[in-house]
Amino acid sequence: MAELHAQTLTELAAGLRAGKFSSVELTRHFLERISKYDAELNAFITVTSELALAQAADADARIAAGTASALTGLPLAHKDIFCTDGVLTTCGSKMLSNFVSPYDATVVTRLKQAGMVMLGKTNMDEFAMGSSNETSFYGAVKNPWNLAKVPGGSSGGSAAAVAARIAPAATGTDTGGSIRQPAALTSLTGIKPTYGRVSRYGMIAFASSLDQGGVMCLSAEDAALLLQSMSGFDVQDSTSVDTPVPDYSATLNQSLKGLKIGLVKEFFEQGLSNENAKPVREALAVYEQLGARLVEVSLPNLPLSVPTYYVVAPAECSSNLSRFDGVRFGYRCDNPRDLQDLYTRSRGEGFGSEVKRRIMTGTYVLSAGYYDAYYLRAQKIRRLITEEFANAFKQVDVLMGPTSPTTAFDIGAKVDDPVTMYLNDIYTIGANLAGLPAMSIPCGFLDGLPVGLQIIGGHFAEAKLLNVAHGYQQVTDWHKRMPERYA
Ligand code: GLN
Repeated sequence: MAELHAQTLTELAAGLRAGKFSSVELTRHFLERISKYDAELNAFITVTSELALAQAADADARIAAGTASALTGLPLAHKDIFCTDGVLTTCGSKMLSNFVSPYDATVVTRLKQAGMVMLGKTNMDEFAMGSSNETSFYGAVKNPWNLAKVPGGSSGGSAAAVAARIAPAATGTDTGGSIRQPAALTSLTGIKPTYGRVSRYGMIAFASSLDQGGVMCLSAEDAALLLQSMSGFDVQDSTSVDTPVPDYSATLNQSLKGLKIGLVKEFFEQGLSNENAKPVREALAVYEQLGARLVEVSLPNLPLSVPTYYVVAPAECSSNLSRFDGVRFGYRCDNPRDLQDLYTRSRGEGFGSEVKRRIMTGTYVLSAGYYDAYYLRAQKIRRLITEEFANAFKQVDVLMGPTSPTTAFDIGAKVDDPVTMYLNDIYTIGANLAGLPAMSIPCGFLDGLPVGLQIIGGHFAEAKLLNVAHGYQQVTDWHKRMPERYA
């Protein structure tokens, strides 16, 4: 039997059911790995050891009583953007560095009810704003494939934890690429579902029309298992969609013969470093061998997705983050002189510089004099991009291309250049603007660093995406590679 941490969630579930090990043993194994390795990775903000062991004991009792679900007893980590009852929930910010949530996010509730064991809360860019995990109040996260490199962001702590096998799976959120880009940079399988598929209740808001929770794990099979429990209508989120959740595991093995894969012309023209294109093209060739057909499609407005996003997302964040005022919860400055001083100093001291940049940009594009020139125009382009995607899905089943323009870059290399940093998400943002489901799966390495293949589907095509990813993972083993240091 492979070491526990080398196994996928699906394999661990089988081991638990067969009585090869208990949930308490499994949980201890991961907690020990966290204490051994997390000092160098900085993937966790909070480790909930006691709670995890108590949940594991409950899970073992459930397994013994025969009332377990597929996920009962399996450990996972939550991105620190999800509210967790009685546990520190920081969103990577000084602003929430003292915030113990009084309730669970729906995603947390559902996985808890399934019997999963929470190992802790993972590091992230402050309020999920970033592509490198360097904007966190809790410091940068290291990439397990090379500790001098970033793991991507904003779900960088979740990515590093799973890639280093100190957690078998983790939740993430994706507003412009924050599940897919770190998954690509650390060789994981990550899926951002359709907007509305997974409840946003208790997921701290960044840009509400774009934010969506999802998972980061080791295989499409694992993603299917987790997504099954997380998805579905929630009365507490008015944007969650009331359509039945299909059985994601049931369709994983469907044949890919006749699958029509669209290659977005604009994705291959733009900024894709030549080496990075190679593993992606090789992955496409594997799909052809599996019986798929490649068709070129064009989405002429897609290159405008980054500027569009950097109007829409800051606009929404400037509104969402106005609730942090030093009065109700979170950080409060010392000895405020008056109410105005309380507001300005609490916000001035509690937010980091990237968050302030976004709030200022957002306030500007929403101001009376600039609303039409920026915000309204961005909304129109967003509509055009959405329509172009819809037209593409009349011709093809899925779209494929690179997830990220480069492999993991050096820590510190892009922090002083926001525009270069923003361009990391050039391939991922389109799916958020259009509300589409999208995945990243490992498809090779360049100079020892992982490369991700992105798969985008039509609305609610999660089952198709997982099937397409699983087909590839049956004939390749990129997703099984792990960094030697953590083997
Ligand atoms: N990197 C993008 C940003 O900084 C996307 C972040 C995200 O998806 N949360 O806004």
